[in-house]
Amino acid sequence: MKETTKIKNSKELKEINWVENIIRPNIRELKPYSTARDESNLKCAVYLDANESPYNSGYNRYPDPHSIELKRVAAESICKQLSRFIDPEVIEEPFMPKPENIFAGNGSDEAIDLLIRIFCTPGRDNIISLSPTYGMYKVCASINDVAYRELSLNTDFSFDKERLLQMCDSYSKVIFLCSPNNPTGNLLKKDDLIWIIERFHGVVAVDEAYIDFACDAGFIPLIDNYPNLVVLRTMSKAKGMAAIRVGFAISSQKIIAYMERVKYPYNIGRVNQELAVKALRESDPTLVETVIGEREMLAESLRRSPGVETVYPSDSNFLLVKFADAKQVYKSLLSAGIVTRERGDVAGCSQTLRITVGKPLENRALLSVINGGSSNKIGDCIELSRVTKETRVQVRIYPQGGRDSDIRTGVGFFDHMLEQISVHSGISMDIDAVGDLNVDPHHTVEDVAIVLGEAFKRMISAKKGYNRYGFVLPMDESRAEVLLDLGGRYTFVWSVSFSGERVGEFPCEMFRHFFSTLSASGLFTLHISAQGENDHHKAEAIFKAFARALRIALSNDVNAYQTPSSKGVI
Ligand SMILES: *Cc1c(COP(=O)(O)O)cnc(C)c1O
Repeated sequence: MKETTKIKNSKELKEINWVENIIRPNIRELKPYSTARDESNLKCAVYLDANESPYNSGYNRYPDPHSIELKRVAAESICKQLSRFIDPEVIEEPFMPKPENIFAGNGSDEAIDLLIRIFCTPGRDNIISLSPTYGMYKVCASINDVAYRELSLNTDFSFDKERLLQMCDSYSKVIFLCSPNNPTGNLLKKDDLIWIIERFHGVVAVDEAYIDFACDAGFIPLIDNYPNLVVLRTMSKAKGMAAIRVGFAISSQKIIAYMERVKYPYNIGRVNQELAVKALRESDPTLVETVIGEREMLAESLRRSPGVETVYPSDSNFLLVKFADAKQVYKSLLSAGIVTRERGDVAGCSQTLRITVGKPLENRALLSVINGGSSNKIGDCIELSRVTKETRVQVRIYPQGGRDSDIRTGVGFFDHMLEQISVHSGISMDIDAVGDLNVDPHHTVEDVAIVLGEAFKRMISAKKGYNRYGFVLPMDESRAEVLLDLGGRYTFVWSVSFSGERVGEFPCEMFRHFFSTLSASGLFTLHISAQGENDHHKAEAIFKAFARALRIALSNDVNAYQTPSSKGVI
């Protein structure tokens, strides 16, 4: 059955009607469903063609069936990523994808399924991959009644290219190679991949779900050289958009055109198309850099941790870690509220866990459990989130403290002030807010105050006793006085004036707004006054004094701090 000798080299493939020869005949002949909107290219029209509701609900019209805008922005974003990593010495004229080279799917899982359906005749053909690797190739093959052949990786997680090619016969249609590979984390060797692509007569799909973490251009620049190459990318990992289910296949126009014909007509909803476009335009490369930095820190620390046998090198956003007793580590992490993925039953990965790199705070919590230290249960935290048109705010507070805080609102000075609240109150805080800072910080500051206030309210009501407290805090020439009563009633008194409009970039009027919103949302009484020359000092003194007052008001040792009151302690 071995027909590797018949295989055309990919340069020859370019010359012949290669795709037509290997594609399933029914797909080659398929007359695709034509959507109503395909046939009219009027800009502005009365739409009586698709049996939609004529009444505007915001969503009454079908979405763009071809995701044109999304593909355009995806092409731009990919070109930007490629130009960052391409070495002009190695590739003189790298291929840059155009929208016609891109298929946009309901996750890259849709692209995996489509490739199998387009090229493999059920009950006859087969696909080939490595082991261990991403589970969806095998699942999609089974669903389509296509045989699945796998070659075990070597112990260093590389693969034997000659043996892989020997596994192919004339019924082998697609080879899936995941690079960086899941769950082993490593990039496959470029030369090995090219060797396979040049010799295999079918399609080679290189799944680059994790390529952003590898600091490598990947295989898209070679698409023009190899008509049988398909690259898969996703919005689900580095782009941070797993919830919207959008992924891409990038290849020759010919293969993409077949994928377009076979997909469901409106495979990506309008909201998801719009959110994907927005995320690609606004993607912040520093987040990926932070994850890469954390990955290296985590790998280094884990190598020194008890019970850890091997931390495999990773080009992705996770680490495959071999433990002396992985099950035990898995359980102790779980009982601390940290979920990891057991991979011990996967061939070649015995006693391993796959650990996704989290935020700094989360990674340190993980390390603290693995190192046998005490970790407050994540379950002991109060977690709240709020999504509006203007902002997305996620707040976790750990009333017992003992963790580093991780605060990210996009407003540097505000982060610094929130850190003061955390440090001086002893409450660890994980605040992750994304807002319309292109307008101004108003919504971001306000919505963080609303969510944080609500979290404080829950923390206060979970306490046995309330207290009231005041604190005076000097800061160089400035001083701030904060009186706080956690009695469940909202009153806000503010006697502070700032001499300038802004501290750095931060509008001074927002200080008052932050604290009034916080106390309204948290249902407590708050009096703040401050004097001084320097606005920055004054602001900082207010935040610190507030935090100190809060710390003491929340203290169980009421007598130590009690402010005399005719009503006593509430
Ligand atoms: C996570 C992942 C994907 C992403 O699939 P989507 O359907 O786009 O979410 C693809 N391939 C691999 C190897 C993955 O690990």
